Amino acid sequence: MSSILHKYFSEMDIDVSWYKKCSHEKITTSNSEFDDLRKIVNKCEQCDLYKTRNKTVFGSGPLDSKIMIIGEAPGKDEDEQGEPFIGRAGKLLDAFLQSINLGREKVFITNTVKCRPPDNRNPSLDELNKCSSFLTSQINAIKPKVLILLGKVAANNILENESPMSDLRQKSFFIDKYDAPAIVFYHPAYILRSPLKKSEVWEDLKYLNNILKEHVC
Ligand code: SF4
Repeated sequence: MSSILHKYFSEMDIDVSWYKKCSHEKITTSNSEFDDLRKIVNKCEQCDLYKTRNKTVFGSGPLDSKIMIIGEAPGKDEDEQGEPFIGRAGKLLDAFLQSINLGREKVFITNTVKCRPPDNRNPSLDELNKCSSFLTSQINAIKPKVLILLGKVAANNILENESPMSDLRQKSFFIDKYDAPAIVFYHPAYILRSPLKKSEVWEDLKYLNNILKEHVC
């Protein structure tokens, strides 16, 4: 756990002993423990995005999810309602998941930053870095079997590279610190803006489905 998070937890009189345990072994993190992290995110002012947000978007899904989907940042609808992927891009993501028999109720969905960047611009490196401890805490607590990274921003941030999407699609990147493979998939918002890419999506979905069959029982 980062020193910043540890300090926040301590100041709020929140027991953090569970976190240490789950960083070494798979445990079922309770709703209340995860809610403690959510409360910290809700009050976070670590980067300037807090000044323009309406609501933080912590993420949603079961804590024992074997699959974690990570997008870039909340958009307008998400910022207004505090839930991830609920706009047009969210509906398209649902359709992608349903095409491989994956319901949203089986996955935990979040973003690299928890507050909307103004005008939906890409989050800055400073914003990504300042928010990264929250995402790391979520991944360590959920311990997914597979990470699905939506779009170049999320992929570059989590894989710590600067590769273009053409070098990232249909590949599996094992992340040692999370003990899980990561698959990069087009961000559905990009597909909405670039409908010609839809033909590539089916190939990506077939690849993703094979990885899920291999790693998620
Ligand atoms: S984006 Fe992350 S680091 Fe920045 S204010 Fe929101 S929760 Fe805090």
